Amino acid sequence: MDDCVFCKIVAGKIPAKKVAENEGAIAFPDINPCMPVHVLVIPKKHVASLNEVGDGSVMAPVFALAEQVARQQGLDKTGWRAVINTGPDANQVVFHIHLHVLGGRKMGWPPG
Ligand code: AMP
Ligand code: ZN
Repeated sequence: MDDCVFCKIVAGKIPAKKVAENEGAIAFPDINPCMPVHVLVIPKKHVASLNEVGDGSVMAPVFALAEQVARQQGLDKTGWRAVINTGPDANQVVFHIHLHVLGGRKMGWPPG
């Protein structure tokens, strides 16, 4: 998608410090981190949100890479959270599906 910021990152038109990659997904730090570890994992293919994910096959490489990132960051020992904000009530602002890998401190539940 021409006007999608995350498609531009996939295409290398906007810089991002890739921390991991597989055949279908890339991972890079959130530009505005809200946790000691805050990495975004996105599919290379444009899908707007979980409302458009269909059979979910586009997410398999995303989940696999999230597991790899969590281990790389040491979060598999301490715990971490995977968040996919979807739509207005969840404050989704970028409409290219992305999984937030969050960790590095104790978190509260439920979310605000
Ligand atoms: P949301 O759509 O609310 O799940 O969150 C979108 C996230 O993308 C926010 O946490 C932003 O800080 C992050 N973000 C937006 N643009 C960039 C970028 N160019 N590089 C890294 N993170 C970004
Ligand atoms: Zn996109």
